Amino acid sequence: MMMKIIGKRMLAILGLVFLTIVIVIVMKKDHKVTTKSLFAMDTYMELTVYGGNSEEAIIAAEKEIYRLDALLSTGNEASEVAILNRNKEGKLSEDYAYLLKRSKEIYEMTQGAFDITIYPLMQAWGFTEKEYRVPDAGEIEKLVSYIDTSEILFDENTGIVEIPEKMQLDFGGIAKGYTSSRVAHIMKDYGVKSAMLNLGGNVQTVGTKTDGSMWRVAIKSPYDDIPYLGVVSIEEKAVITSGNYERYFEKDGVRYHHIIDPKNGMPVQNELISVTIVCEDGTLADGLSTALFVKGKEGAMEFWKTHSEAFDMILCDEDCKLYVTEGIKENFSTELIYEIIEKEE
Ligand code: AMP
Ligand code: MG
Repeated sequence: MMMKIIGKRMLAILGLVFLTIVIVIVMKKDHKVTTKSLFAMDTYMELTVYGGNSEEAIIAAEKEIYRLDALLSTGNEASEVAILNRNKEGKLSEDYAYLLKRSKEIYEMTQGAFDITIYPLMQAWGFTEKEYRVPDAGEIEKLVSYIDTSEILFDENTGIVEIPEKMQLDFGGIAKGYTSSRVAHIMKDYGVKSAMLNLGGNVQTVGTKTDGSMWRVAIKSPYDDIPYLGVVSIEEKAVITSGNYERYFEKDGVRYHHIIDPKNGMPVQNELISVTIVCEDGTLADGLSTALFVKGKEGAMEFWKTHSEAFDMILCDEDCKLYVTEGIKENFSTELIYEIIEKEE
């Protein structure tokens, strides 16, 4: 009788110990974190992925990043983009066709502020080879005449494209956002519920933090004495910034940077220092960060008022003042002076 009771107790204790071990293993798997730093698309990237499948997911993500880099890099003469730029016609891969379609949409919705046909100007200003120069007015005028996304002949059904003889395309304004959204999809395919993907300061999150709380994403700052412009709290979103401090050169006291106004072929000069877009769609976020930089402060605000359901944004002007759309006002904190952009004034 005594033995029977001891036996039952032992069994119960063993059962409890077993259960605890199982719970600890499951929790450990869930809180397992894998990080990976890499250099691709001309920038440093860091992937932080939580959960049991994080190692496999990161391997797949890395592969995808290198694949897209090889496909979209204008500087790599074997890339699909470079091949079309040379051949002027061809049948596009699925990724290229998707990016072309989205780029055309963003061109239309921003009235041409986003235009992937600016590549000849990127070359003329020396941004492609890092051999910077200021082209003369005649050269700029000639190259501006080659800019026009609406002249790209693209059949979405067949994937066949044709561009004018002098035209060349550049997906530099949208490629990273597309890549981060592709990587986020891969994470989901691997069952990842929590990940932070940082592609050179452009961030895409997956799910929430492992405790279910929101991610806190710091917005890049161009100033040495200000570590970041502010912090935005988000669940699954992209936070993408375009700034005039990212790639530039100075000549005779003038700063020329890498975002070109398609209307005049000049590096954009306006009161903005940076544009940050917060949006579920990484591809759109990246296209808009570039386009709204071109549009300037007033233009960007007007644009947001008619597209406020699609995204939120944070503008930083040259006085280091921020303008934050009302959609994220509860989820944004900063030490800097800021104003809320409201839809109805
Ligand atoms: P981002 O940092 O996303 O603003 O991208 C800047 C890159 O976009 C540049 O280095 C160019 O490759 C490309 N770019 C520059 N100006 C434009 C423009 N107006 N429309 C589309 N892409 C642009
Ligand atoms: Mg962009």
